[in-house]
Amino acid sequence: MGKGLAGDFSLLRGEPPIEYLTKANQMEAEGRDMVRFEIGQPDFDTPDNVKEAAKKALDEGFTHYVPTMGIPELREAIQEDIYKTRGFRPDLEQIMVIPGAKPGLFFGLLATVQKGDEVIYQNPFYFQYDSLIGYMGAKKTQIPLYEEDEFRMTPEHIQERISDDTKLILLNSPQNPTGGVLTKKDVSAIAEMAEEHDAYILSDEIYSKMLYDGLEHHSPGCKDECRERTILVDGFSKAYSMTGWRLGYVVAPEELIHKMDLLLADAVSCTTSFVQKGGVEALKNGQDFVEYIMDKFAKRRKAIVEALNEVPGFSCIYPKGAFYVFPNIKETGMKSEELANYMIEEAGVCLLPGTAFGSQGEGFLRLSYASSLEDIEEGIRRMKQAMENL
Ligand code: PLP
Repeated sequence: MGKGLAGDFSLLRGEPPIEYLTKANQMEAEGRDMVRFEIGQPDFDTPDNVKEAAKKALDEGFTHYVPTMGIPELREAIQEDIYKTRGFRPDLEQIMVIPGAKPGLFFGLLATVQKGDEVIYQNPFYFQYDSLIGYMGAKKTQIPLYEEDEFRMTPEHIQERISDDTKLILLNSPQNPTGGVLTKKDVSAIAEMAEEHDAYILSDEIYSKMLYDGLEHHSPGCKDECRERTILVDGFSKAYSMTGWRLGYVVAPEELIHKMDLLLADAVSCTTSFVQKGGVEALKNGQDFVEYIMDKFAKRRKAIVEALNEVPGFSCIYPKGAFYVFPNIKETGMKSEELANYMIEEAGVCLLPGTAFGSQGEGFLRLSYASSLEDIEEGIRRMKQAMENL
């Protein structure tokens, strides 16, 4: 192919392990009834008021280029939301609208990390982190997450590995795939460590509105108000069920935002104009929707955790945020991948092995409970039966 490709693309992971999805799709196409627990997006429709706002924008001809940084109305709404949810008010110049949270992570890494730089992140991880960090040729320093710590990336474990060579710490709370949530104490200790070692923090807060049991979200951005070293990434995909809209934002030091603004301008020019109007509506009038879906998720969480604990060889702790459970299957004596395949083939249940998210996921499975209570009941009943049949 010409003179060859740039970079080693075998290092990019792209989408989640496609083989499980492909197998489940194939079986479904052949008429097999499958229960799907692998999907990482809420199963709710986008709220009507958000759709109406975008439709109105379309009807009014709001269909042209807008500023790369985002429309002022949305950046102001984000500024207000950050104040309400994190307690500080970033300057508008620190806020950039992006097409989904992922580009925020992509451009955040691109603007700060070079080949050979050390990046600290958790294992198990969200696919994109490992993929990009590997592709960029950065040094991967992974912090194992333990069930005993409720899957928090604890400051103690970071302390063991951080050094003055650390360029960036990637945080994700609430976390995918485990549902682990950092405490206020964790977050402030990590923010202090970053300051001490002059490292950036890239904080993926896409599940910030998805917490249970009255827990509050804590952001490392509170320490420096995203003026020194914190790059805060959040978005609309999960809390407002807007995955296909592609809408997110970054809050970061002004100097960094200007670099990311240049990258975004070269890559996409701007985030889709009328989609941004939907985002304004979501932030201004979407709180009831978030409460509605979180009430549903809380009921599903209880149902799935209780049911999984009845499956022979399984044990499952309550996730504190997001909509994933990460049951421990070590007592079954089976490997994660073996069990995930067995569940697809024998039980007609599609889920992911913990190892899809890194080596530390061995002995675990990941199930998303973005499914109805009926599906949860039926899926786990089948899994229990399959384990009893072994
Ligand atoms: N970060 C984490 C931890 C996620 O789980 C996801 C989606 O699954 C994303 C980022 C991507 O968010 P978006 O769809 O807004 O790009």
